[in-house]
Amino acid sequence: MEEIKNQAKKTEGCPYAKKCGGCVYQGKPYEEQLKLKQKTVSSLLGKYGKVSPILGAQCPDHYRNKVHGIFGRDKKGNVFTGIYEEKSHRIVPVENCGIEDSKATAILKTLAVLAKQFKFLIYDEDRDFGLLRHALIRVGRKSGEIMVVLVLTSPILPSKNSFTKELLRRHPEITTIVLNVNDRKTTMVLGTRNITLYGKGYIEDELCGLRFRISPNSFYQINSEQTEVLYQKAIEFAGLTGKERVIDAYCGIGTIGGCAAAKAKEVIGVELNKDAVKDAITNAKLNNIKNIRFWNDDAGKFMIRMAENKEKADLVFMDPPRSGSTPEFIESVNILKPKRVVYVSCDPTTLARDLELFTKKGWKVQKIQPVDMFPYTKSIESIALLQRVSNTRSRSITLDFDMEDYHRIKNGDDHKK
Ligand code: SAH
Repeated sequence: MEEIKNQAKKTEGCPYAKKCGGCVYQGKPYEEQLKLKQKTVSSLLGKYGKVSPILGAQCPDHYRNKVHGIFGRDKKGNVFTGIYEEKSHRIVPVENCGIEDSKATAILKTLAVLAKQFKFLIYDEDRDFGLLRHALIRVGRKSGEIMVVLVLTSPILPSKNSFTKELLRRHPEITTIVLNVNDRKTTMVLGTRNITLYGKGYIEDELCGLRFRISPNSFYQINSEQTEVLYQKAIEFAGLTGKERVIDAYCGIGTIGGCAAAKAKEVIGVELNKDAVKDAITNAKLNNIKNIRFWNDDAGKFMIRMAENKEKADLVFMDPPRSGSTPEFIESVNILKPKRVVYVSCDPTTLARDLELFTKKGWKVQKIQPVDMFPYTKSIESIALLQRVSNTRSRSITLDFDMEDYHRIKNGDDHKK
């Protein structure tokens, strides 16, 4: 604990805290942050089931394996990278962030220097004019592979070869450089088109002893160390015996299903993002997992089809984005009637909303396990284990609850984008 406390001190006094607004627990000792998170989860979810003590991080600093910088230019013409000021689109320069991977921070600094040296036009959002918008850096914390994604308004980067050469000379640790084209006036960072300038165009990393390929547009948990803690707990909650047919809903690049596959008979993954599904298929091959299949679909629609086709499932992992799941999805789970549901959530507010619905349909929450994936921020990851207690079973899909009430609980910020 002493070590944790000392590490947590490093992030104290962050000069960007007020404007950034990301780390609401700035300056608070890590133990206290954990207590506050525990209290939040208990007050939101305690009425559904017993909440176990939160699993804190061994190292709460510099954990973000994904780092995003927006390019800006100051009055003197110097280029910087930064973040949007809270609730605005003003860019606040950030030189050093206490929760970001330090190698990624150093690369961001170099990118700003090179952008000036190579005279790249910095994108101006108000005028919708310029070339260089964002940089996204992803670090494979175990593999050491690093991907730099430059987001431009055009597929053409002037002096591309000399720029790439100079960036690699300064940072030989970079394993791939990708140019992403985003020419739309949008709040989304990435466009859909990627052009590889150097390397493979993706990175690989390791989780729970397996290797995973991560493409620029695919989701990957941002705290790799705590992801292993999260997945191990989720798989423990599943209580698999080797005979089960498992669904991994909202599966991303197939990490949870991949890690659970050795303990199950069969795994079916479903995911909306095409790139993530491609990665998931590759990942199954990479790890020689033969009992897993992936579908590119909306999880709710897919599950409804499964229910209508009278398919079976023994265990459902569900890990939706911050906005939570949908009434359709929950209703289809109710029809498929697996023995257990392991719900992984990054927002206890939407989790509470969905647990309320499950409870109304005759499910009981057996355990809730918070895991601290996002030290210093207010975000909290939790796993809920659900079991069916009522024998009444829906035969058809009826959405017999107040939809307006359900949608009242809205999406929060961006940990799962
Ligand atoms: N389980 C994965 C991904 C969790 S993040 C992991 O641990 O890495 C949530 C995922 O849900 C994202 O990959 C996102 O693309 C996907 N998603 C969002 N809406 C969806 C929907 N309606 N149907 C299926 N997948 C969806």
